[in-house]
Amino acid sequence: LRRYSSIPLSQQITLPNGITYEQPTGLFIDGEFVASRQHKTFEVINPSTEEEITHVYEARDDDVELAVEAAERAFNSSWSEADPEFRGKVLYKLADLIERDAEILAGIESLDNGKSLLCSRYDVNLVAKYIRSCAGWADKVYGQVIETGNTHFNYTRREPIGICGQIIPWNFPLLMWSWKIGPALATGNTVVLKQAESTPLSALYGAKLLQEAGLPKGVVNIVSGFGKIVGEKISRHPKIKKIAFTGSTATGRHIMKAAAESNLKKVTLELGGKSPNIVFNDADIKKTVQNLITGIYFNSGEVCCAGSRIYVQDGIYDELLAEFKRSIEELKVGNPFEEGTFQGPQTSQMQLDKILSYVKIGLDEGATLVTGGERLGDKGYFVKPTVFADVKENSRIVKEEIFGPIATVSKFSTVDEVIKYANDSNYGLAAGIHTTDINKAIDVSNRVKAGTVWVNTYNDFHQQVPFGGYGESGIGREMGADALDNYTQIKAVRISIDRKNA
Ligand code: NAD
Repeated sequence: LRRYSSIPLSQQITLPNGITYEQPTGLFIDGEFVASRQHKTFEVINPSTEEEITHVYEARDDDVELAVEAAERAFNSSWSEADPEFRGKVLYKLADLIERDAEILAGIESLDNGKSLLCSRYDVNLVAKYIRSCAGWADKVYGQVIETGNTHFNYTRREPIGICGQIIPWNFPLLMWSWKIGPALATGNTVVLKQAESTPLSALYGAKLLQEAGLPKGVVNIVSGFGKIVGEKISRHPKIKKIAFTGSTATGRHIMKAAAESNLKKVTLELGGKSPNIVFNDADIKKTVQNLITGIYFNSGEVCCAGSRIYVQDGIYDELLAEFKRSIEELKVGNPFEEGTFQGPQTSQMQLDKILSYVKIGLDEGATLVTGGERLGDKGYFVKPTVFADVKENSRIVKEEIFGPIATVSKFSTVDEVIKYANDSNYGLAAGIHTTDINKAIDVSNRVKAGTVWVNTYNDFHQQVPFGGYGESGIGREMGADALDNYTQIKAVRISIDRKNA
């Protein structure tokens, strides 16, 4: 996968839908695409065909050093003290450019990650909306005046933190790029970002749009590379004052440790989940089945908040399971570029293997395979949407994050019983509730331990609504006003007033 070579800093790529575009392949440091210092590159694979798409430059420690130096210069000179209106203008322009190039960006995501165009377009649309929302925040970062009597004047400022290290995963490459850089830039920070090694392309194309939007050089630096090298370096770098990470709980834990052992960087984490999706007897069955499908099969199940544990009340269990099975078997799985495809391949061989191993685990645990449970074809990492029923609450397929298109379905009788099942997890990212009874909807929302609760909908994100986890699902919130808290620190100024000299 890796080699030493000099490759051009960009390459023309024709997407399967016929769009030709220029893909940057260099690292993005100090406002320019550059070769890595050691001229190492790595291969990017198309998960639909298992063929090579291109090579991109691979960063090493020395490249991260250059990126940090550039981010430091930018923080001190142009960005942290820039007129907030200017920061807003750059982000508004970026949002417009994302919309202009939406089909290119959607195509890149489908090519590199394998997600269907349906999912890619959803992502890109949310990316543009979120960046625009961050643009609006740029001139609305307020401190407070605190009254303590006439002897003092007290106020707080919300100041940027400094250089932010950002490490993102492969399941939503561009969306996670936007959730990370948007609030960091709106609040005057600078960034060194590492995208996942299996999906490096859209972040680099996004860097081209940052250039075009007029972002001053060094404000965002992108160091494509591997977790154990670049990710480690970012997590431990003494000049990086904050780290934001999305990915597995194991890696999140490791990063938190690295941050503690280096310079106690501020840490925000958005990690895994095993989210319950609860259906009550009074739910609208047809609508609920669509929400369950969106909950677990959207983005090929590679969603941290996937509604993977489905609980159905006994009164409608049989009817709902039959309708769920029928609808799943109608889903179009295959070429992500074909209109109408709902589910593309998994992103990598590693994910394919992991998912198929969980099918075996489920069968060994005695669960009933209702549908799916196998690879589709022998080229590309396609898996049939899968459902297990008759699962035991303490079995591995109910407890562990699979990160693929596998749902478990269990039966329950009472509200108390399902709350107990729902909350019996170390995770706490999301939950779904399907009911037409407003009392049940609110009561269960209050009692379920999750950072997001969706009622009669699922995987339904909005740029103004915060997202993040309880428990081992993470620390901090992304999107909405809450995201800004992660990227500012409060300075309190207390001034003594001397009336005698007034
Ligand atoms: P990962 O958490 O290891 O990778 C995510 C990002 O972290 C990538 O950019 C990776 O390069 C980086 N990284 C890896 N090791 C690092 C380290 N030591 N220091 C700093 N950065 C590091 O996830 P993975 O190995 O690609 O996938 C494994 C499992 O993680 C998946 O099967 C899934 O269950 C889970 N996952 C969750 C999410 C999510 O959104 N919550 C995203 C991706 C993967």
